[in-house]
Amino acid sequence: MSQLQRIAIAPSQFQQGQILLTKEQQHYLGRVLRLREGDRFIAMDGKGKWWLAQLAGELAQVLEQLLVGETELPVSITLMVALPKGNGFDEVVRCCTELGVTCIAPVLSDRTLLDPSPQKLERWRRIAAEAAEQSERSFVPTILEPVAFNTSLSFANSQQYICVARGEFPHLKDCLQHKQQMTNDKIVITTGPEGGWTTQEIENAIASGFQPVSLGRRILRAVTAPVVALSLITAAYEV
Ligand code: SAM
Repeated sequence: MSQLQRIAIAPSQFQQGQILLTKEQQHYLGRVLRLREGDRFIAMDGKGKWWLAQLAGELAQVLEQLLVGETELPVSITLMVALPKGNGFDEVVRCCTELGVTCIAPVLSDRTLLDPSPQKLERWRRIAAEAAEQSERSFVPTILEPVAFNTSLSFANSQQYICVARGEFPHLKDCLQHKQQMTNDKIVITTGPEGGWTTQEIENAIASGFQPVSLGRRILRAVTAPVVALSLITAAYEV
């Protein structure tokens, strides 16, 4: 069963024991994965359910609901990333989905250079679904619409960290060690753009309950920093 290919399906595609496949999914299953009529695959709804399905033309028959593998982290992680230049955010979405992120919020900070088109959001959501399929996750992370950094700073009941490249701040791994015994933890962590955060942004974040943290002594690229932050959280919480 574990060798079967997986694809993410929107809950609305399930109808009376069948899955109505989109043209894109038919192409992917038939042309990319080379599945034929009658071949089986795993359909996941991205919200914690998996089904064994059998290809039947433009449809798939649902054969049975499957036990979901335990691939999710015991902590909810919201990652707020100041959008990097070019297509750098694609890589952030892909890698952080593989690492177990729950929600990714692209943010526009004072020094963000990118002005994303509406098509970008669809693209990021597709990348998150593909990465969740390949890493056998049971949930596809939520990708929120881009918003201004300063308007996205209020979160209740969570550990909140802002990664700051320069200055004398505690290392994220040390902060996590003190907190990781808590169950049902919620973590919100944010990383800046190529030009870094402005002083005002750091002060606003601190005023909203964010703790400034370091990811080590080297300056990481805007695309590398979220991946390192996620890796440290995963290492601290995975049992
Ligand atoms: N131009 C900025 C500077 O010279 O200070 C560096 C910005 S860095 C390329 C992009 C973002 O990655 C930073 O805003 C920060 O959030 C994060 N980052 C990079 N290296 C980091 C480190 N060693 N510790 C904490 N955060 C880091």
